[in-house]
Amino acid sequence: MDSQRLKGQKALVTGAASGIGRGIARALAQAGAAVVVNYIGDSRPADEVVAEIQSAGGTALAIEADVSREDQVQKMFQKAIQAFGTLDILVNNAGIQRDAPFLQMTLEQWNTVLSVNLTGYFLCAREAAREFVRRGVVPSVSRAAGKIICISSVHEIIPWAGHCDYAASKGGIMMFMKTIAQELAPQRIRVNSIAPGAIKTAINRKAWDTPQAEANLLKLIPCGRVGIPEDIGSVAAWLASDDADYVTGATLIADGGMTLYPSFEHGG
Ligand code: NAD
Repeated sequence: MDSQRLKGQKALVTGAASGIGRGIARALAQAGAAVVVNYIGDSRPADEVVAEIQSAGGTALAIEADVSREDQVQKMFQKAIQAFGTLDILVNNAGIQRDAPFLQMTLEQWNTVLSVNLTGYFLCAREAAREFVRRGVVPSVSRAAGKIICISSVHEIIPWAGHCDYAASKGGIMMFMKTIAQELAPQRIRVNSIAPGAIKTAINRKAWDTPQAEANLLKLIPCGRVGIPEDIGSVAAWLASDDADYVTGATLIADGGMTLYPSFEHGG
């Protein structure tokens, strides 16, 4: 397979200063794309990702924006397009959890999660699609006018007690993704999701950072290891490339088998 299969393409990854977003930014850059590293708050981790990509010979730029704010998202896309000339790939990745048992969950927790995980995906996808439609297909760059990848979760399928806001946001991403995939396919824009299982990042540190916690988590993962951001980065690089040109409206599950009902391995 061509290791530079995204050569000449420009990508924007939200929440790319840490975890899965960072892994995706590095994988897209490794495949030849110039990458906007979106972040919120402290700029240092984003600058580190940019420096890592540059020192490997790639092109990257950090841009701050809160993806739940329309004005900030629009400014971020203007800056990105000004710097890179256009965009070919959006990875909607920025996401948060505000966990609480349902009876105690506050409206603020619910709204905060939905505004980043779902409204943020809408705002960024709309800006990206507007640019893809404006520019159209450039055959020397890609067979598609643009690619949108949404990082959802196995919790677009698996209900998750104590996390109804998060699970609702991920289930929402599934129908959002499929609907805009249907709407944008005639314009040669591909829209897909990746549903990670358990990946070692800050969002779920408590689930893997002691041997006991990791052993409990592994009971849910038939392949016998907790995932790492690179597991999702390589899938994103493939999905963004022309190797996946006939794939749209799909959720690619990357979970080491978590959605295979592991408790049925020895029973049922
Ligand atoms: P993470 O906390 O390392 O990454 C989330 C990133 O989003 C952070 O860099 C954070 O600063 C950024 N962010 C938060 N709010 C933002 C906002 N308003 N605007 C811009 N950026 C914002 O955790 P992660 O695990 O890398 O999460 C990335 C995505 O992967 C999330 O959508 C998460 O739901 C999803 N996911 C993670 C796992 C896992 O096991 N880690 C599993 C399934 C899905």
